[in-house]
Amino acid sequence: MVKVIATYGPSLYDSKLLSQVCAEADVIRQNISHQEPEVAVRTFNLLRKYNRPIMIDTSGPEVRLHTREKINLNKGGTLDVSCKGEGRVWLDQPLHEHIDEGDSVYLDDGMCELRVIGKRGQTLTLKAVDDVCIRDRMAVNLRGRSLEFPILKQSDISVLKATNPSFIALSYTRTYEDVREAREYTRAKIIAKIENKEGVSNIESILAEADGVMIARGDLGIEVPAEEVPILQKRIVGLANNYAKPSVVATQVLYSMVDKPMPTRAEVSDIANAVLDGTDAILLSNETAVGKYPLQAIRQIKKVGARVAPYVRSKVPDDLRNPAIDPISDMLSKTLRTIALNKQVTKIVVITRSGYSARLISRFKIHKPIIAITTEPEVALEMSLLYNVYPVRWTKKPERHIIPRATLLCLERGLLDEEDTVVFAAAVRTKASGVTNTIEVHKVSDMMSSLGI
Ligand code: PEP
Repeated sequence: MVKVIATYGPSLYDSKLLSQVCAEADVIRQNISHQEPEVAVRTFNLLRKYNRPIMIDTSGPEVRLHTREKINLNKGGTLDVSCKGEGRVWLDQPLHEHIDEGDSVYLDDGMCELRVIGKRGQTLTLKAVDDVCIRDRMAVNLRGRSLEFPILKQSDISVLKATNPSFIALSYTRTYEDVREAREYTRAKIIAKIENKEGVSNIESILAEADGVMIARGDLGIEVPAEEVPILQKRIVGLANNYAKPSVVATQVLYSMVDKPMPTRAEVSDIANAVLDGTDAILLSNETAVGKYPLQAIRQIKKVGARVAPYVRSKVPDDLRNPAIDPISDMLSKTLRTIALNKQVTKIVVITRSGYSARLISRFKIHKPIIAITTEPEVALEMSLLYNVYPVRWTKKPERHIIPRATLLCLERGLLDEEDTVVFAAAVRTKASGVTNTIEVHKVSDMMSSLGI
Protein backbone atom coordinates (compact mmCIF):
# COMPACT_ATOMS: atom_id res chain seq x y z
CA MET A 1 0.00 0.00 0.00
CA VAL A 2 1.14 3.54 -0.71
CA LYS A 3 2.41 5.38 2.39
CA VAL A 4 1.12 8.75 3.58
CA ILE A 5 3.21 11.60 5.01
CA ALA A 6 1.15 14.15 6.96
CA THR A 7 2.49 17.66 7.55
CA TYR A 8 2.14 19.06 11.07
CA GLY A 9 0.58 22.50 11.49
CA PRO A 10 -2.11 24.53 13.28
CA SER A 11 -4.90 22.08 12.28
CA LEU A 12 -3.20 19.44 14.46
CA TYR A 13 -2.72 21.55 17.61
CA ASP A 14 -5.54 19.53 19.22
CA SER A 15 -3.72 16.60 20.89
CA LYS A 16 -6.53 14.10 20.31
CA LEU A 17 -6.58 14.84 16.57
CA LEU A 18 -2.78 14.77 16.45
CA SER A 19 -2.66 11.33 18.03
CA GLN A 20 -5.25 10.07 15.50
CA VAL A 21 -3.23 11.53 12.62
CA CYS A 22 -0.04 9.97 14.02
CA ALA A 23 -1.80 6.61 14.22
CA GLU A 24 -3.08 6.73 10.62
CA ALA A 25 -0.26 8.49 8.74
CA ASP A 26 3.01 6.61 8.19
CA VAL A 27 5.36 9.58 8.64
CA ILE A 28 4.89 13.07 10.15
CA ARG A 29 6.56 16.00 8.38
CA GLN A 30 7.68 19.10 10.24
CA ASN A 31 8.41 22.00 7.89
CA ILE A 32 10.95 24.18 9.71
CA SER A 33 10.97 26.95 7.09
CA HIS A 34 7.95 28.36 8.93
CA GLN A 35 9.51 28.17 12.41
CA GLU A 36 12.19 29.90 14.50
CA PRO A 37 14.82 27.29 15.55
CA GLU A 38 13.77 27.20 19.27
CA VAL A 39 10.13 26.70 18.27
CA ALA A 40 11.15 24.01 15.76
CA VAL A 41 13.05 22.06 18.44
CA ARG A 42 10.07 22.33 20.83
CA THR A 43 7.71 21.10 18.10
CA PHE A 44 10.03 18.19 17.32
CA ASN A 45 10.10 17.15 20.99
CA LEU A 46 6.31 17.26 21.10
CA LEU A 47 5.94 15.14 17.93
CA ARG A 48 8.51 12.63 19.15
CA LYS A 49 6.18 11.61 21.98
CA TYR A 50 3.94 9.91 19.42
CA ASN A 51 6.70 7.45 18.52
CA ARG A 52 6.24 7.91 14.76
CA PRO A 53 8.92 8.58 12.15
CA ILE A 54 9.47 12.33 11.82
CA MET A 55 10.66 14.05 8.64
CA ILE A 56 12.20 17.47 9.12
CA ASP A 57 11.84 19.57 5.98
CA THR A 58 14.62 22.17 5.80
CA SER A 59 14.47 25.80 4.68
CA GLY A 60 17.48 25.25 2.42
CA PRO A 61 18.90 27.81 0.02
CA GLU A 62 15.50 29.41 -0.43
CA VAL A 63 14.86 33.14 -0.17
CA ARG A 64 12.10 34.27 2.18
CA LEU A 65 10.57 37.68 2.53
CA HIS A 66 9.99 39.07 6.03
CA THR A 67 7.70 41.84 7.21
CA ARG A 68 6.16 42.79 10.54
CA GLU A 69 2.90 43.88 8.87
CA LYS A 70 0.70 42.70 6.01
CA ILE A 71 1.05 45.00 2.97
CA ASN A 72 -1.56 45.10 0.19
CA LEU A 73 0.20 46.08 -3.00
CA ASN A 74 -1.99 46.87 -6.00
CA LYS A 75 -0.91 46.19 -9.59
CA GLY A 76 1.71 48.84 -10.47
CA GLY A 77 2.48 49.59 -6.79
CA THR A 78 6.14 49.63 -5.69
CA LEU A 79 7.95 48.34 -2.63
CA ASP A 80 11.51 48.71 -1.32
CA VAL A 81 13.00 45.45 -0.09
CA SER A 82 16.28 45.25 1.80
CA CYS A 83 18.65 42.32 1.30
CA LYS A 84 20.49 43.19 4.53
CA GLY A 85 18.19 41.20 6.82
CA GLU A 86 16.49 44.26 8.30
CA GLY A 87 14.10 47.11 7.39
CA ARG A 88 10.34 47.34 6.84
CA VAL A 89 10.46 44.47 4.35
CA TRP A 90 13.60 42.37 4.02
CA LEU A 91 14.94 39.16 2.45
CA ASP A 92 16.95 36.56 4.36
CA GLN A 93 19.51 36.00 1.59
CA PRO A 94 21.74 38.48 -0.35
CA LEU A 95 19.53 38.30 -3.46
CA HIS A 96 20.83 41.65 -4.80
CA GLU A 97 24.06 39.84 -5.77
CA HIS A 98 22.14 37.61 -8.19
CA ILE A 99 19.48 39.86 -9.66
CA ASP A 100 19.32 42.94 -11.91
CA GLU A 101 16.86 45.57 -13.04
CA GLY A 102 14.28 44.07 -15.39
CA ASP A 103 14.37 40.60 -13.69
CA SER A 104 11.20 39.19 -12.12
CA VAL A 105 10.66 37.53 -8.76
CA TYR A 106 7.61 35.44 -7.91
CA LEU A 107 5.64 35.09 -4.68
CA ASP A 108 2.76 32.83 -3.59
CA ASP A 109 3.92 29.62 -5.32
CA GLY A 110 4.62 31.58 -8.50
CA MET A 111 1.14 33.09 -8.67
CA CYS A 112 2.29 36.75 -8.24
CA GLU A 113 5.03 38.46 -10.22
CA LEU A 114 7.05 41.51 -9.12
CA ARG A 115 9.61 43.18 -11.39
CA VAL A 116 12.89 44.70 -10.19
CA ILE A 117 12.75 48.34 -11.29
CA GLY A 118 15.58 49.71 -9.14
CA LYS A 119 18.69 48.55 -7.26
CA ARG A 120 20.55 50.77 -4.80
CA GLY A 121 23.27 49.00 -2.80
CA GLN A 122 21.48 46.20 -0.94
CA THR A 123 17.98 47.53 -1.59
CA LEU A 124 15.76 46.36 -4.44
CA THR A 125 12.71 48.30 -5.64
CA LEU A 126 10.00 45.93 -6.83
CA LYS A 127 6.90 46.77 -8.90
CA ALA A 128 3.82 44.53 -8.63
CA VAL A 129 2.70 43.04 -11.95
CA ASP A 130 -0.44 41.69 -10.20
CA ASP A 131 -2.29 42.66 -7.00
CA VAL A 132 -0.47 40.97 -4.13
CA CYS A 133 -0.78 40.75 -0.34
CA ILE A 134 2.74 40.75 1.15
CA ARG A 135 2.95 38.56 4.28
CA ASP A 136 5.77 37.49 6.57
CA ARG A 137 7.85 34.45 5.47
CA MET A 138 6.59 34.32 1.88
CA ALA A 139 8.92 32.26 -0.34
CA VAL A 140 10.53 34.16 -3.22
CA ASN A 141 11.21 32.25 -6.48
CA LEU A 142 13.24 33.16 -9.53
CA ARG A 143 11.83 30.79 -12.16
CA GLY A 144 14.52 28.61 -13.67
CA ARG A 145 17.53 30.13 -11.86
CA SER A 146 19.27 28.24 -9.11
CA LEU A 147 21.17 30.30 -6.56
CA GLU A 148 24.51 29.39 -5.04
CA PHE A 149 23.45 29.80 -1.41
CA PRO A 150 24.51 26.95 0.96
CA ILE A 151 22.14 23.96 1.05
CA LEU A 152 21.41 24.53 4.76
CA LYS A 153 20.73 27.85 6.49
CA GLN A 154 22.25 28.45 9.94
CA SER A 155 18.73 27.98 11.36
CA ASP A 156 18.49 24.52 9.68
CA ILE A 157 21.86 23.51 11.12
CA SER A 158 20.93 24.49 14.65
CA VAL A 159 17.66 22.49 14.45
CA LEU A 160 19.40 19.44 12.98
CA LYS A 161 22.03 19.49 15.71
CA ALA A 162 19.37 19.55 18.43
CA THR A 163 17.05 16.83 17.04
CA ASN A 164 17.20 13.25 15.75
CA PRO A 165 14.52 12.82 13.09
CA SER A 166 14.22 9.66 10.96
CA PHE A 167 14.30 11.68 7.72
CA ILE A 168 15.48 15.03 6.40
CA ALA A 169 13.61 16.40 3.38
CA LEU A 170 16.51 18.37 1.87
CA SER A 171 14.97 21.39 0.16
CA TYR A 172 16.27 22.49 -3.26
CA THR A 173 18.86 19.70 -3.59
CA ARG A 174 20.96 20.64 -6.64
CA THR A 175 23.83 18.13 -6.59
CA TYR A 176 25.03 15.03 -4.75
CA GLU A 177 27.49 17.32 -2.92
CA ASP A 178 24.48 19.04 -1.31
CA VAL A 179 23.45 15.67 0.14
CA ARG A 180 26.99 14.97 1.38
CA GLU A 181 27.14 18.38 3.02
CA ALA A 182 23.85 17.80 4.85
CA ARG A 183 25.14 14.44 6.14
CA GLU A 184 27.71 16.33 8.19
CA TYR A 185 24.91 17.61 10.43
CA THR A 186 22.59 14.62 10.73
CA ARG A 187 22.42 10.83 10.86
CA ALA A 188 18.88 10.87 9.46
CA LYS A 189 18.02 9.37 6.06
CA ILE A 190 18.17 12.15 3.48
CA ILE A 191 15.29 12.55 1.06
CA ALA A 192 16.48 14.94 -1.66
CA LYS A 193 13.73 17.34 -2.71
CA ILE A 194 13.86 17.79 -6.48
CA GLU A 195 12.43 21.21 -7.14
CA ASN A 196 14.69 22.97 -9.61
CA LYS A 197 16.33 22.39 -13.01
CA GLU A 198 19.73 21.58 -11.52
CA GLY A 199 18.25 18.87 -9.32
CA VAL A 200 16.50 17.37 -12.34
CA SER A 201 19.69 17.42 -14.46
CA ASN A 202 21.69 15.73 -11.69
CA ILE A 203 19.02 13.24 -10.67
CA GLU A 204 21.07 10.04 -11.15
CA SER A 205 24.07 11.19 -9.11
CA ILE A 206 21.69 12.54 -6.43
CA LEU A 207 19.87 9.18 -6.31
CA ALA A 208 23.16 7.34 -5.94
CA GLU A 209 24.03 9.46 -2.87
CA ALA A 210 20.68 10.22 -1.19
CA ASP A 211 18.41 7.80 0.69
CA GLY A 212 15.34 8.77 -1.34
CA VAL A 213 13.80 11.58 -3.38
CA MET A 214 10.77 13.83 -3.25
CA ILE A 215 9.16 15.25 -6.38
CA ALA A 216 8.35 18.65 -4.86
CA ARG A 217 5.79 19.62 -7.47
CA GLY A 218 4.97 23.00 -5.90
CA ASP A 219 8.35 24.62 -6.52
CA LEU A 220 9.23 22.37 -9.46
CA GLY A 221 6.12 23.62 -11.28
CA ILE A 222 7.45 27.17 -10.94
CA GLU A 223 11.01 26.36 -11.97
CA VAL A 224 9.99 24.35 -15.06
CA PRO A 225 6.79 24.69 -17.12
CA ALA A 226 3.94 23.02 -15.21
CA GLU A 227 3.21 20.63 -18.10
CA GLU A 228 6.71 19.14 -17.65
CA VAL A 229 5.98 18.08 -14.07
CA PRO A 230 3.96 14.88 -14.80
CA ILE A 231 6.68 13.67 -17.19
CA LEU A 232 9.41 14.41 -14.63
CA GLN A 233 7.35 12.68 -11.92
CA LYS A 234 7.21 9.45 -13.97
CA ARG A 235 10.91 9.64 -14.83
CA ILE A 236 12.12 10.34 -11.27
CA VAL A 237 9.85 7.74 -9.65
CA GLY A 238 11.03 5.15 -12.21
CA LEU A 239 14.70 5.98 -11.60
CA ALA A 240 14.23 5.86 -7.81
CA ASN A 241 12.89 2.30 -8.14
CA ASN A 242 15.90 1.39 -10.30
CA TYR A 243 18.12 2.62 -7.44
CA ALA A 244 15.94 0.86 -4.80
CA LYS A 245 15.42 4.21 -3.05
CA PRO A 246 11.98 5.43 -1.92
CA SER A 247 10.25 8.26 -3.78
CA VAL A 248 7.62 10.70 -2.52
CA VAL A 249 5.11 12.62 -4.65
CA ALA A 250 4.24 15.96 -3.07
CA THR A 251 1.99 19.01 -3.19
CA GLN A 252 -1.60 19.87 -4.04
CA VAL A 253 -2.51 16.17 -3.92
CA LEU A 254 -5.84 16.88 -2.19
CA TYR A 255 -5.82 20.65 -2.38
CA SER A 256 -9.60 20.98 -2.43
CA MET A 257 -9.79 19.02 0.85
CA VAL A 258 -8.22 21.96 2.68
CA ASP A 259 -11.81 23.32 2.75
CA LYS A 260 -14.03 20.48 1.58
CA PRO A 261 -14.63 16.97 2.95
CA MET A 262 -14.52 15.36 -0.51
CA PRO A 263 -11.79 15.38 -3.19
CA THR A 264 -12.27 16.32 -6.83
CA ARG A 265 -12.26 13.54 -9.44
CA ALA A 266 -9.01 15.00 -10.82
CA GLU A 267 -7.34 14.72 -7.40
CA VAL A 268 -8.39 11.07 -7.08
CA SER A 269 -6.89 10.40 -10.53
CA ASP A 270 -3.68 12.19 -9.56
CA ILE A 271 -3.24 9.93 -6.50
CA ALA A 272 -4.02 6.82 -8.55
CA ASN A 273 -1.52 7.84 -11.23
CA ALA A 274 1.23 8.52 -8.68
CA VAL A 275 0.69 5.01 -7.25
CA LEU A 276 0.64 3.48 -10.75
CA ASP A 277 3.89 5.32 -11.52
CA GLY A 278 5.40 3.32 -8.61
CA THR A 279 5.84 5.94 -5.92
CA ASP A 280 6.34 4.80 -2.32
CA ALA A 281 4.61 7.66 -0.52
CA ILE A 282 2.39 10.69 -1.00
CA LEU A 283 2.86 13.88 0.98
CA LEU A 284 -0.02 15.95 2.33
CA SER A 285 0.93 19.58 3.08
CA ASN A 286 -1.79 22.18 3.67
CA GLU A 287 -4.40 19.42 3.73
CA THR A 288 -3.22 18.28 7.18
CA ALA A 289 -1.31 21.39 8.35
CA VAL A 290 -4.02 24.00 7.94
CA GLY A 291 -6.95 22.09 6.41
CA LYS A 292 -10.31 21.32 7.93
CA TYR A 293 -10.26 17.58 7.13
CA PRO A 294 -6.80 16.13 7.91
CA LEU A 295 -7.95 12.61 8.81
CA GLN A 296 -10.30 12.38 5.86
CA ALA A 297 -7.45 13.41 3.52
CA ILE A 298 -5.18 10.64 4.88
CA ARG A 299 -7.99 8.07 4.55
CA GLN A 300 -8.71 9.22 1.01
CA ILE A 301 -5.15 8.44 -0.10
CA LYS A 302 -5.28 5.04 1.60
CA LYS A 303 -8.62 4.27 -0.09
CA VAL A 304 -7.36 5.15 -3.59
CA GLY A 305 -4.02 3.42 -2.89
CA ALA A 306 -5.78 0.19 -1.91
CA ARG A 307 -8.05 0.28 -4.96
CA VAL A 308 -5.24 0.67 -7.52
CA ALA A 309 -2.67 -1.56 -5.75
CA PRO A 310 -3.54 -4.70 -7.78
CA TYR A 311 -2.83 -2.78 -11.01
CA VAL A 312 0.64 -1.53 -10.04
CA ARG A 313 3.36 -3.17 -12.14
CA SER A 314 7.11 -3.03 -11.62
CA LYS A 315 8.92 -0.95 -14.21
CA VAL A 316 12.37 -1.98 -13.00
CA PRO A 317 13.91 -3.57 -16.13
CA ASP A 318 14.56 -7.32 -15.60
CA ASP A 319 18.06 -6.97 -17.01
CA LEU A 320 18.92 -3.85 -14.98
CA ARG A 321 22.34 -4.17 -13.36
CA ASN A 322 22.71 -1.10 -11.21
CA PRO A 323 26.33 -0.97 -9.94
CA ALA A 324 25.01 0.82 -6.81
CA ILE A 325 23.24 -2.46 -5.83
CA ASP A 326 25.14 -5.47 -4.47
CA PRO A 327 24.94 -8.08 -7.32
CA ILE A 328 24.12 -11.12 -5.15
CA SER A 329 21.40 -9.27 -3.19
CA ASP A 330 20.09 -7.96 -6.53
CA MET A 331 19.78 -11.48 -7.94
CA LEU A 332 18.19 -12.87 -4.76
CA SER A 333 15.61 -10.08 -4.61
CA LYS A 334 14.71 -10.70 -8.27
CA THR A 335 14.32 -14.42 -7.54
CA LEU A 336 12.16 -13.62 -4.51
CA ARG A 337 9.98 -11.39 -6.71
CA THR A 338 9.43 -14.24 -9.22
CA ILE A 339 8.40 -16.56 -6.37
CA ALA A 340 6.21 -13.90 -4.71
CA LEU A 341 4.27 -13.34 -7.94
CA ASN A 342 3.08 -16.96 -7.76
CA LYS A 343 -0.61 -17.11 -6.82
CA GLN A 344 -0.04 -19.49 -3.90
CA VAL A 345 2.22 -17.02 -2.10
CA THR A 346 0.24 -14.64 0.10
CA LYS A 347 2.92 -12.71 2.05
CA ILE A 348 6.60 -11.87 2.12
CA VAL A 349 8.68 -11.81 5.32
CA VAL A 350 12.13 -10.23 5.25
CA ILE A 351 14.53 -10.26 8.17
CA THR A 352 16.74 -7.23 7.81
CA ARG A 353 19.21 -5.31 9.95
CA SER A 354 19.76 -2.15 7.89
CA GLY A 355 16.51 -2.19 5.88
CA TYR A 356 18.48 -2.78 2.66
CA SER A 357 16.80 -6.10 1.79
CA ALA A 358 13.37 -4.55 2.39
CA ARG A 359 14.20 -1.74 -0.05
CA LEU A 360 15.40 -4.20 -2.68
CA ILE A 361 12.10 -6.07 -2.50
CA SER A 362 9.84 -3.04 -2.12
CA ARG A 363 11.23 -1.52 -5.38
CA PHE A 364 9.16 -4.08 -7.36
CA LYS A 365 5.87 -2.76 -5.89
CA ILE A 366 4.50 -6.30 -5.50
CA HIS A 367 0.85 -6.50 -4.46
CA LYS A 368 1.60 -8.62 -1.37
CA PRO A 369 2.45 -7.33 2.11
CA ILE A 370 6.14 -7.27 2.98
CA ILE A 371 6.62 -7.82 6.73
CA ALA A 372 10.08 -6.48 7.57
CA ILE A 373 11.55 -7.66 10.89
CA THR A 374 14.48 -5.78 12.39
CA THR A 375 16.17 -5.42 15.75
CA GLU A 376 17.01 -1.75 15.09
CA PRO A 377 14.34 0.74 16.33
CA GLU A 378 15.51 3.47 13.93
CA VAL A 379 15.46 1.09 10.94
CA ALA A 380 11.89 0.09 11.82
CA LEU A 381 10.87 3.78 11.69
CA GLU A 382 12.72 4.36 8.41
CA MET A 383 11.09 1.39 6.69
CA SER A 384 7.67 2.98 7.31
CA LEU A 385 8.25 5.03 4.14
CA LEU A 386 8.61 1.98 1.84
CA TYR A 387 5.72 0.86 -0.34
CA ASN A 388 3.83 -2.08 1.17
CA VAL A 389 6.44 -2.64 3.90
CA TYR A 390 5.15 -3.25 7.45
CA PRO A 391 8.02 -2.96 9.94
CA VAL A 392 8.15 -5.17 13.05
CA ARG A 393 10.63 -4.84 15.96
CA TRP A 394 12.48 -7.81 17.30
CA THR A 395 14.23 -7.22 20.62
CA LYS A 396 16.94 -9.76 19.78
CA LYS A 397 17.63 -11.72 16.61
CA PRO A 398 17.80 -15.43 17.50
CA GLU A 399 21.08 -17.23 16.84
CA ARG A 400 19.31 -20.31 15.40
CA HIS A 401 16.00 -21.30 13.75
CA ILE A 402 15.59 -17.74 12.54
CA ILE A 403 12.80 -18.42 10.03
CA PRO A 404 10.55 -20.51 12.37
CA ARG A 405 11.06 -17.91 15.12
CA ALA A 406 10.19 -15.08 12.74
CA THR A 407 7.04 -16.99 11.82
CA LEU A 408 6.07 -17.35 15.50
CA LEU A 409 6.64 -13.62 16.06
CA CYS A 410 4.38 -12.75 13.10
CA LEU A 411 1.70 -15.21 14.29
CA GLU A 412 1.78 -13.66 17.80
CA ARG A 413 1.37 -10.17 16.30
CA GLY A 414 -1.50 -11.31 14.05
CA LEU A 415 0.51 -10.52 10.89
CA LEU A 416 0.42 -14.09 9.55
CA ASP A 417 -2.10 -16.88 9.90
CA GLU A 418 -1.87 -20.63 9.43
CA GLU A 419 -3.30 -20.45 5.91
CA ASP A 420 -0.59 -18.12 4.63
CA THR A 421 2.09 -19.31 2.24
CA VAL A 422 5.10 -17.12 2.82
CA VAL A 423 8.32 -16.41 0.98
CA PHE A 424 11.07 -15.56 3.50
CA ALA A 425 14.30 -13.66 2.90
CA ALA A 426 17.04 -13.62 5.53
CA ALA A 427 20.74 -13.46 6.12
CA VAL A 428 21.93 -16.60 7.92
CA ARG A 429 25.40 -17.67 9.03
CA THR A 430 26.84 -14.22 8.30
CA LYS A 431 27.61 -11.16 10.37
CA ALA A 432 27.70 -8.86 7.31
CA SER A 433 25.14 -6.06 7.09
CA GLY A 434 23.12 -5.33 3.94
CA VAL A 435 23.11 -8.88 2.54
CA THR A 436 20.41 -11.45 1.92
CA ASN A 437 21.65 -14.97 1.31
CA THR A 438 18.63 -17.21 1.94
CA ILE A 439 15.16 -17.62 0.49
CA GLU A 440 12.67 -20.17 1.85
CA VAL A 441 9.00 -20.77 1.01
CA HIS A 442 6.62 -22.32 3.56
CA LYS A 443 2.96 -22.82 4.20
CA VAL A 444 2.68 -21.63 7.80
CA SER A 445 0.53 -24.59 8.98
CA ASP A 446 3.02 -27.10 7.49
CA MET A 447 5.94 -25.39 9.15
CA MET A 448 4.17 -25.37 12.51
CA SER A 449 3.28 -29.07 12.32
CA SER A 450 6.81 -30.02 11.25
CA LEU A 451 8.07 -28.22 14.36
CA GLY A 452 5.47 -30.05 16.50
CA ILE A 453 3.67 -26.79 17.41
C1 PEP B 1 7.02 21.60 -2.87
O1 PEP B 1 7.54 22.63 -3.29
O2 PEP B 1 6.27 20.89 -3.57
C2 PEP B 1 7.31 21.14 -1.50
C3 PEP B 1 6.95 19.95 -1.06
O3 PEP B 1 8.05 21.98 -0.70
P1 PEP B 1 7.46 22.99 0.40
O4 PEP B 1 6.20 22.36 0.93
O5 PEP B 1 8.54 23.11 1.37
O6 PEP B 1 7.21 24.22 -0.40
